[in-house]
Amino acid sequence: ASLQKEDSTIDGNSFKGHDMLAPFTAGWQSSDLNPLVIEKSEGSYVYDINGKKYLDALAGLWCTALGGNEPWLVAAATEQLNKLPFYHSFWNRTTKPSLDLAKELLETFTASKMAKAFFTNSGSEANDTQVKLVWYYNNALGRPNKKKFIARAKSYHGSTLIAASLSGLPALHQKFDLPAPFVLHTDCPHYWRYHLPGETEEEFSTRLANNLENLILKEGPETIAAFIAEPVMGAGGVIPPPATYFDKIQAVVKKYEILFIADEVICAFGRLGTMYGCDKYNIKPDLVSVAKALSSAYMPIGAVMVSPEVSDVIHSQSSKLGSFSHGFTYSGHPVACAVAIEALKIYKERNILDQVNRIAPKFQDGVKAFADSPIIGEIRGTGLILGTEFVDNKSPNDPFPPEWGVGAYFGAQCEKEGMLVRVAGDNIMMSPPFIMSPEEVDVLISKYGKALRATE
Ligand code: PLP
Repeated sequence: ASLQKEDSTIDGNSFKGHDMLAPFTAGWQSSDLNPLVIEKSEGSYVYDINGKKYLDALAGLWCTALGGNEPWLVAAATEQLNKLPFYHSFWNRTTKPSLDLAKELLETFTASKMAKAFFTNSGSEANDTQVKLVWYYNNALGRPNKKKFIARAKSYHGSTLIAASLSGLPALHQKFDLPAPFVLHTDCPHYWRYHLPGETEEEFSTRLANNLENLILKEGPETIAAFIAEPVMGAGGVIPPPATYFDKIQAVVKKYEILFIADEVICAFGRLGTMYGCDKYNIKPDLVSVAKALSSAYMPIGAVMVSPEVSDVIHSQSSKLGSFSHGFTYSGHPVACAVAIEALKIYKERNILDQVNRIAPKFQDGVKAFADSPIIGEIRGTGLILGTEFVDNKSPNDPFPPEWGVGAYFGAQCEKEGMLVRVAGDNIMMSPPFIMSPEEVDVLISKYGKALRATE
């Protein structure tokens, strides 16, 4: 931690002990608070206000898929700002970019049929919207008791009240009186950490599906409305599903008429080497949440996609229940939609999946080559997402003492080397921009190796 402070010191600058109540930042009242202030970006790099250059190995917050200065996104925003900076989409008024984006977005999703798109400003709002949609749907069907949600331990679904409740990370609940009582959590599907001695991945998946079924039966299937999952868990430490996991989980939820919500906020648009995580794991959801790479984060926007079944019920019952009274001033913001339309166009025209699949093996193999380090328990990931977990004795049961700050030290070393990663305790996460060149992947691997050697 002291290294981090030293290296990010802004000479003679007054951002020390600043005025912002900063998100997910400890000690915001402290006069020692000394943030790394990022000033500009270029391709896969960002620069701080002292001009120091960093490889952005997390793509902002898992989001700037097209890197730091994509001129077509800037042009799309500028053109829309000049034409119509804002109009809303309430009460049967809307704008062309929001109508066009709904159409374009729905066409990108082919794992199951999606009929409608609802726009939000963020992933958290998308997941909050999911809960309200599902409740409205079950009320419309005359099933007022079918209201509970099942999410998974270590999931991250956002930080608004409902999205934080769905999330399975204790820090999001403690001191906030969460989770809300309608949210239940089932097992985290992390094979390395939680499998029993001798248990195969398939057997582990079977056990987790059985646990899920037992939870549903205990609560009463008539009370469980939906199950929500990230195809690859992100903020919980980058946890890809074990073999056969989603097949078995889907069979259980289907059996009890429980809707499946795919939280694709990190995975969508190519991060896993497929357009959606659902494509990779053969998930056929009823509802999908997206955000982040939807606009490559150049403008805040998220969306919910809704299956024809859910959409039809809501539509056919709305004369009885009244309008779906939910939405945000900026739902379908025309500038955000114009940027997202351009991002989707770029993904298609530049064959972004080919690009991701070209660099992903180098990224995965290059970093995983460090897995025999004595301080690394596991390096896991797929496509352009990777997690490293530091433990003692290579065992999930031997965490390093938190006061040693192993993960924080590694993060600080990366920063010193000119690379930004995500640190959560002794978990390190990376999700680089899709546009990285093979040479930049080499730079990433080299910086990771130097930071690791310094940490060992
Ligand atoms: N869902 C997932 C899987 C996420 O990773 C995130 C953010 O990281 C969210 C939802 C929340 O998105 P936002 O921060 O845009 O509200």
